[in-house]
Parts: sequence; structure tokens; C-alpha cells
Amino acid sequence: MQPHQNSLENYLRQLHLPTFVQNYQTYAQDASRANLSFERYLLALCDAEMAQREANKVERAIAQAKFPVMKDLATFDFEAVKDIPKQRVLELAQGDYITKAEPIILIGSPGLGKTHIATGLALAACKQGKRVRFFSAANLVNDLLAAQKDLRLSKFTTHIGKFDLVVLDELGFIPFTRDGSQLLFQLCSDLNERVSIIVTTNLRFGEWNQVFGDEKMTAALLDRLTHKAHIVEFVGESYRFRQRMQQEERLGRENKTEVS
Ligand code: ADP
Ligand code: MG
Repeated sequence: MQPHQNSLENYLRQLHLPTFVQNYQTYAQDASRANLSFERYLLALCDAEMAQREANKVERAIAQAKFPVMKDLATFDFEAVKDIPKQRVLELAQGDYITKAEPIILIGSPGLGKTHIATGLALAACKQGKRVRFFSAANLVNDLLAAQKDLRLSKFTTHIGKFDLVVLDELGFIPFTRDGSQLLFQLCSDLNERVSIIVTTNLRFGEWNQVFGDEKMTAALLDRLTHKAHIVEFVGESYRFRQRMQQEERLGRENKTEVS
């Protein structure tokens, strides 16, 4: 390596321009071949550096969100669930609700794609540079209880309050203890109108009592959550179940034709 090359790479590293280091030689060859100006060459390097930074930022946001399973809205079959208006979901994915700190509530029986849609919306938010954190409701309650026990509840709540979007997946699957539901209620009140929440749940609103125990608290929570909420109801039969049935039907038909 030539001495000037060495110090150039050192400078570029010190200036935190790793994509320059990676590309400056090949781009220089391309630029001279294509007879590009020095400015055009520099612009191409800057473009690459900025694009890489943006990609890194999104990657960090996705890692920070801690999705249990990656799901994209693009892989959701909207044809399979006629009642879920694709246009409305795609509009939500633009992220206006996050700017306004509005909640989204996805209600319906298991297997209809609520977690898929919640993950897809949250992933879209990561791509828009939003700070996102995905929790199963049960895990979040456990984290809250642990934080309370270790006397770091307010630190934990402040940490959650810094996100732009918090997903609360599968609210209602496991009933909470009295302490647990109180902590979750407290957190939701704290985030209300500051941080957007996506809740997925198998419970109709009238059944939320079963999870939170206390009637007054449930009413107060519902009041906060449903005020300004985008509510999407999922109805029908489990997607995977339906797919399995269709597959079996297909196999049955094939076997019949083989026999005949
Ligand atoms: P829910 O949270 O409502 O119980 P999930 O989102 O976990 O349902 O869906 C169960 C599985 O079926 C997941 O693997 C999900 O990706 C898939 N799935 C459900 N509905 C659809 C759909 N309409 N298009 C594509 N995949 C779907
Ligand atoms: Mg789910």
C-alpha cells in the first residue's frame, strides 16, 4: 500500500467514513473510465456512505425491536381475510398513527394473522426510523414485576417511554396477577397519548375484566386505549387451519384421480 493511501484510509476511518474506505478505489477507477468530474466522484462516495448509514440505522432499529418472528406485510395474504381492508392496513403502515401517538387494537380469534399484521406494521415503523419494541403481554408484565421487585420500576418505565411504538402481543392469553395487571395499567396510562401502542388480543372488550380482574381499572384502561384507537377486527377461521384443509382436499382429489 502506498504511504498516501495509508494515511488517506486512516483519515477516512477517523472521520467515520467506512463506506468511503470500502469504495474509494473502485469508484475512482469507474470515475476515470467514465470521465466523471471530481465532484461527481465525491458525490457518488457520499451517496454510498449515506445509504449505508440509513441501512445500518434500520438494522439497529429492527434488532432493538426484538421481534420474536419476522413478518412482513408483503407476505400477508389479504385475499384470505376479506374483512381486513388491505388499503386501511397499508395506510396505517405509513405511520401517521405513530406521529399522533394513537393506539391500534387488533381483535380476533387465534390464527387469523393479528401477530403477523402487528409485526408487519412495527417492521414498517422500524424502516421509517422509529424506535419500536415488541413485547408479548405476558413477558412485559413479568418484566414490570421484576423491575418493581428490584426497585427499578421508574427507570424501566422511562426506558419504555422513549420508544415511539410499543407492541403488546397476545393480551388475554394469560390472566395477570393483581400486581401484574396494576403495573400494566399504570404503564399504559403512562404511555397514553405519548407513545403509540399496538395491542393484539383474542378478547372482546367485554371480556377484558377477565384479564385485569378489577372492573374499574379495566374500564379506565379501555377508556384510554380505545379513545382515538384504530380498531381492526379479524373474523373467520385460522389461516393455517384453512390452508391445511385446502391441502388435504387437494391431496384427496389427486388420490381420487390416481385411483380412477
Ligand atoms: P394470530 O396472532 O391472530 O393468532 P398469527 O399472526 O400468529 O395469528 O398467524 C398464525 C400463522 O399464520 C403465522 O405464521 C402467520 O404468518 C400466518 N398467517 C395468518 N394469516 C395469514 C394471512 N392472511 N396471510 C399469510 N399468512 C398468514
Ligand atoms: Mg398472535
